[in-house]
Parts: sequence; C-alpha cells; structure tokens
Amino acid sequence: MKTFASKRVLVTGGAGFLGSHLCERLLADGCEVLCVDNYFTGTRDNVVHLLSHPRFELMRHDVTFPLYVEVDEIYNLACPASPVHYQHDPVQTTKTSVHGAINMLGLAKRLNARIFQASTSEVYGDPEVHPQPEDYRGNVNPIGPRACYDEGKRCAETLFFDYHRHCGLSIKVARIFNTYGPRMHPNDGRVVSNFIVQALEGKPITIYGDGSQTRSFCYVDDLIEGFVRLMNSPADITGPINLGNPGEFTILELAEAVIRLTGSKSKIVHHPLPQDDPKQRQPDITRAKTLLDWKPTIPLEEGLRRTIAYFEMQLDRQKVRPAE
Ligand code: NAD
Ligand code: UDP
Ligand code: UDP
Repeated sequence: MKTFASKRVLVTGGAGFLGSHLCERLLADGCEVLCVDNYFTGTRDNVVHLLSHPRFELMRHDVTFPLYVEVDEIYNLACPASPVHYQHDPVQTTKTSVHGAINMLGLAKRLNARIFQASTSEVYGDPEVHPQPEDYRGNVNPIGPRACYDEGKRCAETLFFDYHRHCGLSIKVARIFNTYGPRMHPNDGRVVSNFIVQALEGKPITIYGDGSQTRSFCYVDDLIEGFVRLMNSPADITGPINLGNPGEFTILELAEAVIRLTGSKSKIVHHPLPQDDPKQRQPDITRAKTLLDWKPTIPLEEGLRRTIAYFEMQLDRQKVRPAE
C-alpha cells in the first residue's frame, strides 16, 4: 500500500555491493525504492531479500540508454568499481560513467529531482598530496589502464557541475574512498574480498608489489550513513565531498590482519604491481565532518570481522550447493 508521504528514490547500480546496502537503508527510512541495474557486476541475489518489500521495485536496465521513470531523488551508483571489472571492457566503463551521467542528469532535469553521484578517490589518481583534500586536482594518467574509470568519473563530475550551473540542478557529489563489507562479490578482485576469500580457502594471499602501498578502508555502513547525510544536506552543499575512513594501512598490514582474524595458515605471495597503481591514499574528511557532522565509527578490525563472517557463510553455501 502506497503511503503518500514516501519519497520515490531511484538507485542506479542498486544490485551491486554499495547499491544493495543503500536500497536497504532507504527502505528502512520509509522511501519507495526503484533499483535499476544491468547486472554487469551486481546480482539479483544482493537484493533478493528486498523483492517482497511493498516499497521496492527492481528493473533491469543499462544506464547508457535513456530512462523514463518518475522519481523524486536519484542516487547514481551504476559503474563497475573493481579494477578487474572496469578494465574488462574499458570503453563500456567510460560509456557507463559519461553516457550514464548524461542520461541520469537529463532525467533529473526533466523531473527537477535532486541527484547524487558516486564519484571516487580515483579522481586524485596517484596523488602527490597526502592526505587528499577535495581541492587537490589529482594526478591521473589519461591514457593508462585505469583511465577508463578515473577519467570517466572525472568527466561525470564535470557534467554534474555543468548541469548544476546551467540548469539549476540540485547535485550532490561524493568522492568515495575504498569501502568494504558484506556483499562484495567473492571474485570481485578488490583487495579486501581477495584476501578474505584466499585466507578462508587456505590459498596464498596475493600481494601486488611489496605491499607498502597504502589504502584507507571504510566499512560499508559508515559510508551509507555519509551518502544519506549528504543527500539530505542543504542545497548549497553540492560537494565534491570526500567520504572514507582516514585510518591508513599498508596492503601488507591488511594481509596480516586478515590472516590473524581468520586464523588462516595461508602464506603471503608477491605478484607484480599493476601499472599506475596508486602508492598511497587517505581521505581528508574535514569537509564531511564540518558540513555533514559525519565520521566513520567502525574500526578496520571490527569491519573485517563482520566481512569475514559474511564470506564464511557464502563459501559454506557454495560448498552445499553442488549437492543440492
Ligand atoms: P559494484 O560493482 O558492486 O556495483 C556497481 C553496480 O553497477 C553493479 O550492480 C553493476 O551491475 C551496475 N552497473 C554497472 N554498469 C551498469 C550500467 N551500464 N547500467 C546499469 N547498471 C550498471 O561496485 P560498488 O563497490 O557497489 O560501487 C558502486 C559505486 O560506487 C560505483 O559507481 C563505484 O565507482 C563507486 N565507488 C565505490 C567504491 C568502493 O570502494 N566500493 C569506491 C569509490 C567509488
Ligand atoms: N533523458 C532520460 N530520461 C529523461 C530525460 C532525459 O534518459 O527523463 C536522457 C535523454 O536521452 C538525453 C539525456 O538524458 O539524451 C540528456 O537530457 P537533456 O535534457 O539534458 O539533453 P537533450 O535531451 O537536450 O540532449
Ligand atoms: N591488491 C593486492 N592484492 C590483491 C588485490 C589488490 O595487493 O589481490 C592491491 C592493489 O594493487 C592496490 C590495493 O591492493 O594497491 C587496492 O586494490 P583494489 O583493487 O582493492 O582497489 P584500488 O586499487 O582501486 O584502490
């Protein structure tokens, strides 16, 4: 039964890791949620528990094509996020960021809807400024293997600010730093899911390079809180605004933490460092703290415990499935 008070919210990429958590949160907040996804990296499984919810709707659609629906707010998350996936079809990755942004901005313009963009710390590339504040313009190689993602996201930010200036659209741009948690795909290729799955399966932990490169890992629940705060902030807060956990760890430290928390006997092996892999990354979250009164609350160890518990369950299920 429709409540007239509920806001209709579109989440593109809603069947992905972050999108599925956001859909859950918006439903809990009383919104009607339209989840749009082409299932490139997301799965129906991520939202299957929401399908019977009376305020949830799922639609298979590729955002590089126009979309005509009626909503009050848009969260634009559609885009593969793991290097392995976004480099699989790089042209499609750029199209998803750029054509997807144009279509979702056109939709927002027609509806006069507020629109949120899931941008990324990758707009800073391999940063020469540390930690990275929002006014740092970045160090991206425009022709390297990561460029389809980094430059696609940079162009999407440009489009958001041009629609804001020229069409008066209400925009919210979040620059998301590495985020992890339940519902990352086990074969996603990102470091946290790789290490946890390898540790649980007793396989070698694959560190690319010497493991001295750093990342700052944010637990998914903290990030989603930041999304909702940004979306609901006053209209003059457009971003870009960094959302991430400033706790910075080397990849070697992460590997050791995963081995310790899983009690695994896995050994560390070293593989070549991929081209253009950023050496260090840490968000300056002063803006988010000041403007949104937001900061992460879940330390890495606690977040890893929860994520390990999720992957243990997933791997157990996979073991059971063939016998079913
Ligand atoms: P994910 O791969 O789990 O989710 C992306 C979702 O977008 C998937 O469900 C996928 O099927 C869908 N998608 C891809 N191309 C599409 C298209 N053309 N049309 C419709 N749907 C499409 O990744 P995630 O970690 O949940 O990332 C969500 C968003 O957040 C992405 O835009 C990503 O760039 C951004 N982000 C994530 C992180 C992170 O650490 N998780 C960091 C920075 C930015
Ligand atoms: N668009 C869409 N849904 C809408 C309105 C527009 O997908 O409800 C797409 C449309 O296909 C267009 C893009 O958004 O290509 C940009 O729209 P805009 O109105 O800004 O530009 P124009 O239509 O003039 O090219
Ligand atoms: N990485 C690693 N082993 C893996 C996967 C990734 O050492 O199995 C490294 C990767 O080279 C990078 C860091 O971990 O330095 C984070 O990689 P991820 O793909 O998770 O995210 P991004 O590079 O986009 O921050």
